[in-house]
Amino acid sequence: MNIKKILSILSMLYSLVTSASYLHLVEREENQESLKKIILPPKESNTYDEWQSGVYSKLHKEGKITLKKAVASYLNKRYYHEKIKFTPKKEEDGFFNLFNSQQTMTFDTHLGRSKICDLEIKAIKRQDGSIYIIGNDQNFHTYEYIPSKWPSLELSRKRVIENIKEKFHSDFRIKVKDKCYLSESKELKPVWIFSIHLNGLPYEYYADDNRLYKKERKFFHLDGVTGKTQVYEENSTDSNLVEYDIQLDGDGTLKNSFFETFTNPTSKYGHERAYSKDHSFIYTPSDTEFNEVSVFTHANNMLSYFKSIGYVWAETNNIILNIYAPSRGSNGRNNALYVPSNESFNGKTSINIGDGDGHDLQNLLTDTDVVSHEFGHHVQYRTLKTASGESLILHEGIADFFAFAKTDDACLGESICPEGSDSCFLISECLRTADNNLRLNDSDYSSMTPHHKSQLLSGMLWDLKADLDLNYLAKLTQKSIDFLIVDSGFYHFILALMTADEYLGQGMNSCKIYDAAINRGFGTMLENLDCKEVSQWPEDQETTENLRDEDEKEALKKNEATCGSISKINKLPFTFILFSLLFPFLLILCYQSFGVAYSRRT
Ligand SMILES: [Zn+2]
Repeated sequence: MNIKKILSILSMLYSLVTSASYLHLVEREENQESLKKIILPPKESNTYDEWQSGVYSKLHKEGKITLKKAVASYLNKRYYHEKIKFTPKKEEDGFFNLFNSQQTMTFDTHLGRSKICDLEIKAIKRQDGSIYIIGNDQNFHTYEYIPSKWPSLELSRKRVIENIKEKFHSDFRIKVKDKCYLSESKELKPVWIFSIHLNGLPYEYYADDNRLYKKERKFFHLDGVTGKTQVYEENSTDSNLVEYDIQLDGDGTLKNSFFETFTNPTSKYGHERAYSKDHSFIYTPSDTEFNEVSVFTHANNMLSYFKSIGYVWAETNNIILNIYAPSRGSNGRNNALYVPSNESFNGKTSINIGDGDGHDLQNLLTDTDVVSHEFGHHVQYRTLKTASGESLILHEGIADFFAFAKTDDACLGESICPEGSDSCFLISECLRTADNNLRLNDSDYSSMTPHHKSQLLSGMLWDLKADLDLNYLAKLTQKSIDFLIVDSGFYHFILALMTADEYLGQGMNSCKIYDAAINRGFGTMLENLDCKEVSQWPEDQETTENLRDEDEKEALKKNEATCGSISKINKLPFTFILFSLLFPFLLILCYQSFGVAYSRRT
């Protein structure tokens, strides 16, 4: 076989061998002055033909050295930097041939004692004994300067942590994995590689003390993709739109393991679902899809936030984001509901949100607080499942607090109150607010609807912000949910906060929580409680109205699919009965979250 023929076969092979390009390094020149300079030129020049007639090939064919050694010596001699060494990868590293043959040899590239990140060279033996070499040249450049000092590990780790916290509101684990030289902007940068465990999946991050250079997923999934969305970060009072990367199932719609949209295409105010073949959901506020994209993105962001303060997703199904959800009254557009088990969606959980008629309420689909609040109900529903009495007020107050904590803003639904509408507690400003002076059993409190009363609880939590870090406070509140029962009320909640603080803060903040509760008028309830002597806590101070016998509690638990027992409808506030009577099927709808528009009419 002559050289020309080999070359033509090789060039054909070249085009077949993945996207990896041939690695070409410049030969050592005679009288080379600076050994610090590495030049890796474009791929036009060839080397494999020379290998064919090369001395190492000959030595190997004569059985004098192994093929592996032959190729390593060849590479080391031919590509000239004093510090660059090509070393065969060991089979125990997992780089063995699938067919257990000796047809390929893979080489790492070391500079001094450290690897060049991800640079790999592979020599492939063809059937006729000839060798060709491929490599990923990664835009190699001329390296004039090779730093010898490694960046601070601690500062590099700090850069990675900052980046993760900025992008994800999730807990994560970080471990140092390795270090290597990264080819970046015509330089070899010494970087640290960190293994990250985030949202249950592994990643690798490459960083130095200055910045993060790259991150890689260390997993493959069947058909999941990263989609792009564009929304207001919080609401339409934001001047800029923000883009987000969101994991999607990859069917071209807004669907992932956590949420899925439903847009009521056949109803009067509904629309077709957004579809994007390349998973890019970049719309502007004038596009109808913008609403759907906003709810989906904000729901995912809220989930990330909850995860960052300790929430563990354990749901079997994703949650349906049922938007333009029809309900009657005021065109059925001015409400948002959390439905633990929605028969319309085979018993899946749904969050139903109307778009707002623009008169009573508006922008319900683009304001992050709305879906944040509803998802807050979902988080609490693990333990607290009752939608009446103190439990309802508590549910609403905690759901509001989480929405406030995420945005560090005590106004719920900044953009949803139309000019002149009296649907909002603060006219034209906030549906509800934690920035208030409500006290238990004060006359203005007593005359309020449960939704407005809930501001007492969110307000008490917000008061604690003066003494506690907001992130800690949010963690504490979420942890406290574990210490509630199906129909807990205020007293249980205050005890739960103090118990959560024992776990998360060694009980250091017990008296702060106690004082905050006293300031909001819970004094009578807490008479026998000493915040300094936690071991002396009385067992229960709940008002008898909130205590049920064990049988009834058990029945309530079993009935969780319908979120409370039908018998309890008698105890529901009138607004809820009105709502339920209008729509018998809504007996299953537990939380009339944006019920202000309705309560106003009662
Ligand atoms: Zn609510």
